[in-house]
Amino acid sequence: MTELEELRKKIEEITVEMLSLLKIRTEIAQEIGKIKNEQGMSVQNESREDDLRELIKKECKKIGFDETAALKFLNFILNESIKVQSAESKTHLAIFLKAKELEQQGKKIIHMEVGEPDFQPPISVKESLSQVYEKGFGKYGPTKGIPEFREKLSKFVNDRFDAETNSENIMVTPGARFGVFLSITTLLAPGDEIIVVEPAWPAYRQCAINAGIKVRSIKTTLENSWEPKIDEIEGCINDNTKMIVLNYPNNPTGKILPKILQDQIVDISKKHNLYILSDEIYSNYSNREWRSILSYDYDKTIVTQSFSKSHSMTGYRIGYVISNQDIIEKMAKLQALCLTNVSEPIQYTAMKSLEDDVSNNVKIMNERLTKLKEICKEMELEFIDPDGAMYIFARTKNPINASELSEELLNHGLAIAPGMGFGDYNEFFRISACLDTKMLIEGMDILKTRL
Ligand code: PMP
Repeated sequence: MTELEELRKKIEEITVEMLSLLKIRTEIAQEIGKIKNEQGMSVQNESREDDLRELIKKECKKIGFDETAALKFLNFILNESIKVQSAESKTHLAIFLKAKELEQQGKKIIHMEVGEPDFQPPISVKESLSQVYEKGFGKYGPTKGIPEFREKLSKFVNDRFDAETNSENIMVTPGARFGVFLSITTLLAPGDEIIVVEPAWPAYRQCAINAGIKVRSIKTTLENSWEPKIDEIEGCINDNTKMIVLNYPNNPTGKILPKILQDQIVDISKKHNLYILSDEIYSNYSNREWRSILSYDYDKTIVTQSFSKSHSMTGYRIGYVISNQDIIEKMAKLQALCLTNVSEPIQYTAMKSLEDDVSNNVKIMNERLTKLKEICKEMELEFIDPDGAMYIFARTKNPINASELSEELLNHGLAIAPGMGFGDYNEFFRISACLDTKMLIEGMDILKTRL
């Protein structure tokens, strides 16, 4: 055997041995998952993961191995453990699907679990849809979107978000969700880490895990008004940390960060060269001063926006991403691969609706939130007054299991979103203000009888 053949043989043996060790490790992780499930413990345990990280760092020093590579490998196997341990988690989607099933059987359900405004889209949408055929929007188009639409979006963004963009900074996407997916999937690589401030919309975590990226969650609390601690953010950053996700006004808490805190987060991100993915789809539902991350003019910012909430066009599936040209180019490659371009008839319709005044939706949502707040206070629920968005994230004075409560409420005709889906907030639930006030009161009456 030549030297090269011998070395290759050794590599083969080591790889096979690593595989069988991985199998044994996965089986143990499954056992741990069962115990966690029985004891109602959450799948992810940050402090346990930190202990393992420290152990690996020490070992690297001892054996003289590259720490960054070792931590990347650790991230891979930690994600594998999370995958095998993740049981059927109770997200609002699971409750929504169950509610739909019950409705099929003839049961009436009040939907306070979904974040879908009940308003009609602006009336101009009806007219512009009818123009699509004559105008010939029915062919393949450029991946990044109709040029005139991108131009208009760029002006819209500059007017509203204190930003200086041009159309090259904009790409139209089928909803903000796909913008989030594109950002995480194209800019990060397996083994990289992403910081998610929780409670958070579940898709950030799910997109990261899907792409082999390790989620480092920063838990915030009601006691601290859902504000992340700067030293906690800084403390979890290492060479593999590549992105932080922000979402203000926040789903589910309705929080808008104080300016100073937001400034500090941007400063830290710059210092550590992190991408900032800022999901700003609730920006027009802001009840106090809100500042777009675009206004900081930081090159590694990606903002996702959408017509879903502002124009009540959830089913049209249309949104856009705003970033620097290089990042847009990278994301455009994956978008082209996945879907060629966003449906042009829908782009045309959204473009026309940009001229509509949607401030009445904001006013109505605010009135509903005010009513919901009043009822929640009467019920002695604990929550912060939402600064924006469309939700109240609350818990009862005496802690309850909100996942069980959500299941039980379905049988009484009410769907709410359990806090578990937004991170480990099992005592909390989210109620949406996406129905008319009469229905909301009816829903809250059902909730009262079960608490
Ligand atoms: N981001 C957040 C924070 C959301 O709450 C939602 C929908 N609930 C989305 C993105 C998805 O938006 P879109 O319909 O534009 O994909």
